[in-house]
Amino acid sequence: MNTKHYPSVLEEKITPHLRQLIDQGSKAIELQFRGKMEVGLDKFDNDDPLGEESKYSPFKGIVHKFNNRALVKVSYRCAAHCQFCTRARQIGTSEGDLSNEDVERVLGYIALHDEIDDVILSGGDPFVTPIVARQLLDGLVNTQSVKMIRIGTRLPIHSPASFRSEPVKQLLARITEITKTRPLIVLIHVNHPDELSTEVVEAIKVLKSTGALLMTQTVFLNNINDNVEALFKLFTSAYHLGIIPYYIYHCDSVRGLEHFVVSIEKEQQIVTELRCRLSGIAMPTHVIDVPGKGKIDVPLGFWSSVDLSSCSDYEGTIIDLKNL
Ligand SMILES: *Cc1c(COP(=O)(O)O)cnc(C)c1O
Ligand code: SF4
Repeated sequence: MNTKHYPSVLEEKITPHLRQLIDQGSKAIELQFRGKMEVGLDKFDNDDPLGEESKYSPFKGIVHKFNNRALVKVSYRCAAHCQFCTRARQIGTSEGDLSNEDVERVLGYIALHDEIDDVILSGGDPFVTPIVARQLLDGLVNTQSVKMIRIGTRLPIHSPASFRSEPVKQLLARITEITKTRPLIVLIHVNHPDELSTEVVEAIKVLKSTGALLMTQTVFLNNINDNVEALFKLFTSAYHLGIIPYYIYHCDSVRGLEHFVVSIEKEQQIVTELRCRLSGIAMPTHVIDVPGKGKIDVPLGFWSSVDLSSCSDYEGTIIDLKNL
């Protein structure tokens, strides 16, 4: 367990676009972004349950947890602050900013570790620091062993207007160059159909015109999207826009987030019902990012006698899911 203590308040940060959707009556967006996150000591008394800093980060900017995949934290900056952020302890600070030397060190590590064929630019939001993101992309396309690049972003949802700004347009142009010769995946974090406003759909079309494969990532959130109708609409709409649903996560056990967490039993019930209704390709995989190693698939409810109180991680360690 990580005993380090970070400043534990995530300040409210919201964009004009999100504020407008809240003003138009979206509770789902209000609950995700409004207010600062009050943090106390509670049963989720762990601010790094996935061991990102303590165990799998050789140095600043990189998490190398799975043999063939590396995750690059491009910064800790996002256009808006999701109140349930897994990295709430860091988001909005400058401590994750990468200098030129940091970028070179990250790229050097990836080149040296030629078992890494899949690199994920994450953060923070790489689209919020497009110049650093471009530097990293340039290095990665010139690294022989790297065969797949993914970029995780929530900027189309937070601030669709940014897709008309010059720095983001330059990043999009670079992505367009890259996709002429190789695949690149953009993972869009989206949690509720209210987020797919007209402006957001326009930004997604711009992103899609780069030739990148678009996929979604979603977090189950209590009172926000923990119902079949909202998620059915979300994944159907995404699918119709040409975005392939990838993961739906159980909310991580990070200190201060417990009121967002949905029970695994309820999640399983919802996901099972979605399986009955969604096109197969519109169906995301339901996972728990366990403290230990791995994203563990939650079994669907079609099987009798499956015990959801514990599971094992990729190394066979038993994880008690009742005391995450
Ligand atoms: C999620 C994650 C990955 C990617 O996992 P996939 O299951 O391949 O999408 C890679 N590294 C870290 C640290 C992660 O958390
Ligand atoms: S976009 Fe992702 S990293 Fe940024 S605040 Fe939201 S959950 Fe955290």
